[in-house]
Amino acid sequence: MKKILMIGGGVSGNAVAELADILHIPCRVISDSAAAGLSFEEIFADVELVVTSPGVLPESALLQYARKNLLPIISELEFGIRHFPGRLVAVTGTNGKTTTVELTEFLLKKLGSKVVAAGNIGLPLSAVAAELMRKKDPAAAEMIAVLEVSSFQLEYTDYLPAEAAVLLNVESDHINRYPGGMAEYRAVKERIFRNVPPEKCFYGASMSNASSAGDFAIADLQLFYKSCKVADLHGSCFAAPHNQENLLAALCLVGSIVDLEDKTAVLGSAILEFQTGDHRISLVAEFNGVKYIDDSKATNPAAVKAAVTALEQVPHRNIVLIAGGLDKDMDFMPLGGLAPYLRKVVVYGRCGGLVAQAFENRVECFDAGNDFALAVNHAAASAVAGDVVLLSPAAASMDMFKDYKARGDEFARLVREFIAGIK
Ligand code: ADP
Repeated sequence: MKKILMIGGGVSGNAVAELADILHIPCRVISDSAAAGLSFEEIFADVELVVTSPGVLPESALLQYARKNLLPIISELEFGIRHFPGRLVAVTGTNGKTTTVELTEFLLKKLGSKVVAAGNIGLPLSAVAAELMRKKDPAAAEMIAVLEVSSFQLEYTDYLPAEAAVLLNVESDHINRYPGGMAEYRAVKERIFRNVPPEKCFYGASMSNASSAGDFAIADLQLFYKSCKVADLHGSCFAAPHNQENLLAALCLVGSIVDLEDKTAVLGSAILEFQTGDHRISLVAEFNGVKYIDDSKATNPAAVKAAVTALEQVPHRNIVLIAGGLDKDMDFMPLGGLAPYLRKVVVYGRCGGLVAQAFENRVECFDAGNDFALAVNHAAASAVAGDVVLLSPAAASMDMFKDYKARGDEFARLVREFIAGIK
């Protein structure tokens, strides 16, 4: 191959450059800002393949040039897939991808498989492929990659030969990227199934009836495999309906890869050992009968609904919700349906006003503007014993924070400061 042009730097760009280097293919990594003012004829001279990072916007001048000149364009993910020697399973959906991928990886490991979680989770598959090639690992073909796949990654991925794949759910999110709205967003998500055998394409059950999938079923918080009890989910993170959806999805993938007949005991104890990651309905403090919960990873309204449902405050109005941040042209109005569970809503950030509109005349709202400390302190001061102060923003964090982790960490810090102040 003459030359690869990688559009977009960062982790994806570095991984593609590293893999291309091992393959002895010349590769130039360039971003739109670095290309501004340069000759595109020169940049694209001898380029045979364009690889794009998920963060590159559709309106990127470099992408548009490549499209106009009919150059083949693939995602970083597909570049990794083309050179990954092992087996693949894949997960997409608006919410629950990371949890499902981490759970699938955890369970497969416990069952003795060689496994790596890759993709949108933060480790590009190109980096995994490069590492396997560098090590000349003789067992590379046995490696199972559990792929977290975002809609952005699916846009330029035509070839994803997963042995099994899951589409967890499609909810209002990222609509600013898709001129065709929800229909286009859903169609992009469905691309995950293009190369998957139909009997191995799994759809997450909707939260209200996430009760069975494949050979697994959940009834009264008991998990069954082919009618045999595998685990009692009481007290585990799988007591929450949305995590049951994730559990059943992970089990469909695991069951597609491993024969589970004589392994249900190992599987059952592994399931009960699993913990969801930080910033996902995580208890950060409890003081004077008030629980403070960080759900900063909830970046769309559906994730907030999952958190409120999981907290089981029905029908008391004892959740003080903190929400707001950066909108992605999402529909916030369904949040209004959570009103019966909420004592108060404290909004902040760029889309605070839009979030407040969803609760108009239904719950008392306080707008803290761009003052996150005021939002947290006001919410904490509004709570009484038995309440939950819940940071579940329904929006992205980047209007005021580096990422959702920084937002959750700042929430925890402000909570500790508030508690110290009243001790
Ligand atoms: P993703 O990687 O898709 O963003 P995560 O597992 O990181 O998903 O969870 C993101 C947010 O969505 C968290 O607030 C979490 O509590 C919530 N969540 C997780 N799984 C689901 C689900 N199946 N349905 C709705 N919300 C979910």
